[in-house]
Amino acid sequence: MASNKNIEPPSINHQWPIPYGKQNITEEDIQSVVEALRSDYLTQGPRSKEFEDAFAKYVGAEFAVAVSNGTAALHLTCLALDVKEGDKVITTPITFAASANCVQYCGGEVVFADIDPDNYLLDINHVRALLDASPKGTYKGIIPVDFAGRAVDMEAFRDLANEFDLWIIEDSCHSPGGFFCDTSGNKQYCGNGKFSDLAIFSFHPVKHIAAGEGGMITTNDKALYKKLLMLRTHGITKNVNDFQNSIDIAIGDQPTTNQEYPAWYMEMQELGYNYRLTDFQAALGLSQLSRANEGLEKRRAIAERYFNAFEHKSFVKSQSGIVAGHAYHLYVIEVEDRLGLYNHLREHKIFVQIHYIPIHLMPYYRQLGWSLGDCPNAESYYNGCLSLPMFPTLSEEDQEYVIGALEDYYR
Ligand SMILES: *Cc1c(COP(=O)(O)O)cnc(C)c1O
Repeated sequence: MASNKNIEPPSINHQWPIPYGKQNITEEDIQSVVEALRSDYLTQGPRSKEFEDAFAKYVGAEFAVAVSNGTAALHLTCLALDVKEGDKVITTPITFAASANCVQYCGGEVVFADIDPDNYLLDINHVRALLDASPKGTYKGIIPVDFAGRAVDMEAFRDLANEFDLWIIEDSCHSPGGFFCDTSGNKQYCGNGKFSDLAIFSFHPVKHIAAGEGGMITTNDKALYKKLLMLRTHGITKNVNDFQNSIDIAIGDQPTTNQEYPAWYMEMQELGYNYRLTDFQAALGLSQLSRANEGLEKRRAIAERYFNAFEHKSFVKSQSGIVAGHAYHLYVIEVEDRLGLYNHLREHKIFVQIHYIPIHLMPYYRQLGWSLGDCPNAESYYNGCLSLPMFPTLSEEDQEYVIGALEDYYR
């Protein structure tokens, strides 16, 4: 085991090990959950709506739908866009499996396009090549992912999607508060609905905003918004204006002169699910959301320290770097001898992580025909990538310890 005076673990107030990501629960968070528990609502209630409104405002979208987790959000977006048997949808292999699985849930077929090795995001040129190689209409949509918190250039993807008549679901799980600058120089926030049909977020504890479990869908499309509300709750509507059955059927076979739908009446119009968020989760999400910008600033400061530490180090071949609008869910470096470094860091109680094992190499997708060599950039990225500790409460002292342990390994 390598050891060095410089990398003695910081002794004060230290909690072992140092993870790659971590939630931060404050007294205010706890208070707002307690308040929710003392209220009349356990499952979806007023706080869910409040959370939706606040979140929509935060990302600059018109509508938001809170759901039980990010995967449910992806499933519902695919259902709302009517993904069905045989529909082909393009995404990146460097993301969490759920970004791809949602297409499969609906009987569609996910197609992986390679990443750009410079920014680790879905490469629009590879997407275009796929689209050009098939008759128009072969593909139905694209799911770009703001991987690690770096915003996809959604303007460019929207142009491409329009050309081929495709929809876009932006997977923004890593990037609440992140943005890219459009061709007019305006900041475009991830999930603001200007370029994507629908965008999704997750409130899993490792993400920026923690709700235990939770997810959000944002959109500027009112028809899709209404459809999502129904799909979230069994495909049921209680809105009189949307009823399809006649008043006769609603009332039942009884003598009546009533010309209105009875108050109990509701309709299940589509095959929906129960993907609701509970109100105490929404309370936690709301409280966390109020500190989201603070957390983002801390993440950006941490990224800057990593960048400065590794800028001239030959053992770091590539890194997330300093990018305007990056939300830094992850700080990724690419190194030689990744396994050796990983083990060395674990010995020093630094629990780094790998994001991600390319999805097309997962046995489920290999059994569908995908194999090594299909996405060479993603595969070569996987050979050297490592996600360093990145969370708002990571102290400068702990970060120095992490940097020291890395330098020690390559010394
Ligand atoms: C976390 C995550 C999801 C899934 O979210 P859950 O809330 O865990 O279901 C989907 N896509 C990406 C990119 C994620 O990081």
